[in-house]
Amino acid sequence: MGQHFGFIGLGNMGTPMASRLLDAGHTLTIYDIRAEATKSLAARGARVAASPAAVASAAETVLVSLPTPDVVRLVALGPNGSSSGNRIKTFVDLSTTGARMAADVAKGLAEHEISAIDAPVSGGVGGAVAGTLAVMVSGPQETCETLRPAFDAIGKYFYLGDKPGMGQTMKLCNNLLSAACLAVTCEAIVTGVKAGLDARQMIEVINAASGKNDSTERKFPRAILPRTFGMGFTAGLMHKDVKLYLDEAGALGVPQYVSAAVVQMWQLAVTQLGPNADFTEIVKCVEQWADVEVKG
Ligand code: NAD
Repeated sequence: MGQHFGFIGLGNMGTPMASRLLDAGHTLTIYDIRAEATKSLAARGARVAASPAAVASAAETVLVSLPTPDVVRLVALGPNGSSSGNRIKTFVDLSTTGARMAADVAKGLAEHEISAIDAPVSGGVGGAVAGTLAVMVSGPQETCETLRPAFDAIGKYFYLGDKPGMGQTMKLCNNLLSAACLAVTCEAIVTGVKAGLDARQMIEVINAASGKNDSTERKFPRAILPRTFGMGFTAGLMHKDVKLYLDEAGALGVPQYVSAAVVQMWQLAVTQLGPNADFTEIVKCVEQWADVEVKG
């Protein structure tokens, strides 16, 4: 039977995830700071609320998909935030915000007798539309289990423990790998093209060889070789994720030689291209330096 959920943050990821909840027979009360972001879901029957507090007065479980840790904190605990609602029992953060932030927010919400669950997702806009995201869940196990219908509607559920932030740590480790692979694949392909190899053939060879990764299998063929650059994830958000990773690795005393270089590369991308550039446009930074363009 369908449940009623609150959903806050209807951007590139939030809209398709919320849409899948409607497809699965659930009902929604929604909010986004940009009124236009709520329109397509409102047209499908979602109720639009005027604030995060109003969402949390309409639903026992509120899911959020928001850009940065500060925005999540504001929406959870700020004035007119979800913690001021009178029905909410569980707050689920689908955004990538880091383990420290997840623990802080969980503590703040516990003072209002609200359980916090972190459930960051991976798989991009395509995965959100198809309902095939990896959903990395941590928090009180019983509560997480009761939310399986929501998680199952958006992707594959992985339970990572009851300690707040374990889902976030998992997600940051994944995104470090994704960010590193994209940056270094750009360097490798630009090198080959400048030497005279064909970019499309290079990708074919790598995908039949030991260097293959998600960038060679998906990002180059879909977005970089055709120069469409529309994967739906910004360079600014990727930079945020690798910085969060570095903070966490630093706090744990783990070496950061390679990851620090990855963070610098994404800092360069944001400085040169702006935070709203699609993350696949990072190839342009390498191309510009090498004075060569990768084409399909
Ligand atoms: P986005 O910028 O497209 O969406 C964020 C939404 O939050 C926007 O609609 C924005 O208007 C809204 N918002 C901002 N401040 C708000 C506030 N104070 N109150 C209510 N709404 C507010 O970002 P996105 O790409 O959908 O990413 C969302 C989160 O998911 C990020 O943490 C990101 O790192 C993570 N993520 C993104 C992808 C991807 O491929 N885009 C994949 C996995 C995880």
